[in-house]
Amino acid sequence: MGKAYCTRCAKRFPSQQALQQHYDDSPRHYRCDICGFDGSTWEKFLQHNRKTKHRVVCQGCDDGEGIAWIAGSQEYLVHLKEQNVCQACEEHFDSSSNLHHHQMVHLPRSIECYGCYRKFSTLPAMIIHLESGACPSGIDIVDLNESAAMCFQWKAYLHEDYQNELLNRVDLLSKYGNSVYPFKCPECDTRVTKLSGLLQHVYSDACNQSLYEGKIAKLTKWLEKRYSVDEE
Ligand SMILES: [Zn+2]
Ligand SMILES: [Zn+2]
Ligand SMILES: [Zn+2]
Ligand SMILES: [Zn+2]
Ligand SMILES: [Zn+2]
Ligand SMILES: [Zn+2]
Repeated sequence: MGKAYCTRCAKRFPSQQALQQHYDDSPRHYRCDICGFDGSTWEKFLQHNRKTKHRVVCQGCDDGEGIAWIAGSQEYLVHLKEQNVCQACEEHFDSSSNLHHHQMVHLPRSIECYGCYRKFSTLPAMIIHLESGACPSGIDIVDLNESAAMCFQWKAYLHEDYQNELLNRVDLLSKYGNSVYPFKCPECDTRVTKLSGLLQHVYSDACNQSLYEGKIAKLTKWLEKRYSVDEE
């Protein structure tokens, strides 16, 4: 009889079975099936699983409450796929392309900004930083566009109607809004509004071209050279 006692709740139960039932139902007990660990809160239970890997925690589940899944189980694998789950930070995404884009934040940061000392995990991410006007160097979208229009390979990725305006440092977005697509992919002709969009397109799985080959490589090398502080 003395054995069917819950110390945490200071409660006695008529049988082991009733005590077990209490453990299962009570919001003060979250037990690990594998080692018998008994968390007093859901959060502690999840922490236990993060530490021991007895279960895989997905914090994005259940509206952010988190669920502890059986690692490698069919259900968990289906969940990862259906909810576009990032396993590094347990977030859920609306689409696989959003997930793919997000996962760049987990890559090592090795691309240094042309103008400042900030580092980025990808070249497109660094170009977005410059285009946003946030870089203390003052390099912005107008500068980048001008540089892109100066490269001898410009015809490969820039629509010819816009070269002059870009060379004259016209801010296309404020002049025409988002409806102009001056840049195009040299490989598949996809049209985009910004240089960063072009680089993102090339970087993504959507296109066979890569950032470091062909005409895009000429462009990225040109930009690097133009903004490198040491040379010239
Ligand atoms: Zn209890
Ligand atoms: Zn455990
Ligand atoms: Zn989840
Ligand atoms: Zn993530
Ligand atoms: Zn910068
Ligand atoms: Zn393409």
